[in-house]
Amino acid sequence: MISEEEARAKILETIRPLPPRRLSILEALDCFAAEDYFARLPLPNFDNSAMDGYAVVASSCAPGKRLRVVGEQPAGLDQQLRASAGEAVRIFTGAPMPAGADAIVMQEDVTREGGEIVVNVEVDPGEFVRRRGCDLGAGQKVLARGERIRAATTALLASQGFSEVMVGGEVSAAIISTGDELVRPGEKLQPGQIYESNSLLLQGLLHDCGAAVRLMEHCRDDEELLTKALKRAIKHRVVIVSGGVSVGERDIVQKVLRSLGAKIDIWRVAIKPGKPFLFGHIDECRLFGLPGNPVSTFVTFLRFVRPAILKMMGAADLDLPKVSAKLLVDLTNDTDRAHYIRGKFEGGIFRPVGRQESHALFGLSQANALLRLAVGESRKRDTIVDIHIWD
Ligand code: AMP
Ligand code: MG
Repeated sequence: MISEEEARAKILETIRPLPPRRLSILEALDCFAAEDYFARLPLPNFDNSAMDGYAVVASSCAPGKRLRVVGEQPAGLDQQLRASAGEAVRIFTGAPMPAGADAIVMQEDVTREGGEIVVNVEVDPGEFVRRRGCDLGAGQKVLARGERIRAATTALLASQGFSEVMVGGEVSAAIISTGDELVRPGEKLQPGQIYESNSLLLQGLLHDCGAAVRLMEHCRDDEELLTKALKRAIKHRVVIVSGGVSVGERDIVQKVLRSLGAKIDIWRVAIKPGKPFLFGHIDECRLFGLPGNPVSTFVTFLRFVRPAILKMMGAADLDLPKVSAKLLVDLTNDTDRAHYIRGKFEGGIFRPVGRQESHALFGLSQANALLRLAVGESRKRDTIVDIHIWD
């Protein structure tokens, strides 16, 4: 049995980011940038109006002052208008500032009388003018290599005229669930059977970290069938096998993997839940054997599979988001493994939820955070702890 840290380091050591690809910005959401990107244009790109109103010379305005309306500038092509003292240009939000004007008076603050307006307020220079470059300067970094492309990132890239972006490679994944006792949801259960649920869990987790699930199969605990299923699966970058990695006679995954020529790099890690975790490889395919108990599957996915996939995708940050929380109860880890407590983080407080056992799927479904307790570690209620969140 090796430590969790050792296992994680060993896994990440064997993984290289996949070759980058060029994607349309429409498709790049949630991918990771493969290069640094810099602003081509300042934002805004020209001085423009922040309001619907009138472009004026501030020094020629005062409450009661009359100005002659000399033109109209909508958002769009610059009409090359000019406003001098005593004049106003009708203007709309986002429209370029006319030459000579240095402020906008909101339309709510004037009275329109035919070809004139009466200004009803004091006007300061610069009021309601959005200055060129006030948000972003040309040449400024807009996206760093390894950063996740979010909705606002795609909008920012679009604002710069980029239609494509270089992102990390796609990770194709295969899921094989194993177990004679498992039945597909929707079918009838016989005594002793249970519904197969880990594939769904894994599919969701893979989707959340951006991998493409290309194959999903269930396989009985049968060496021949598993061999065939694995032969199909190892065409993908990542294979996740659920169940069958423990020490029983029916835990045949390791044996079958070896018979296919896989090198097993890790088997059994000091993590609770998830001790029988297995990691290996065949050529470029990375093989993860996750213990079948649902909470073990979940925790080992987040601790070992997720960072591996993110690294393949070119992400800079491989960790789950961490937050500080006040602990609601006393907790002690008197086991010989790092213990991940499932709990709910709400209103700054972390409270364990459900049975802290590896089969307890309901508790997991109510949780949104993990607290790690190292071997022998005790944490007192009301102290501040760091937790990992996934929702
Ligand atoms: P195993 O890792 O195969 O020894 O399975 C450990 C426990 O997890 C057993 O109680 C299995 O019935 C359960 N289990 C295994 N695979 C799944 C699955 N795909 N869905 C739900 N439960 C499972
Ligand atoms: Mg099994």
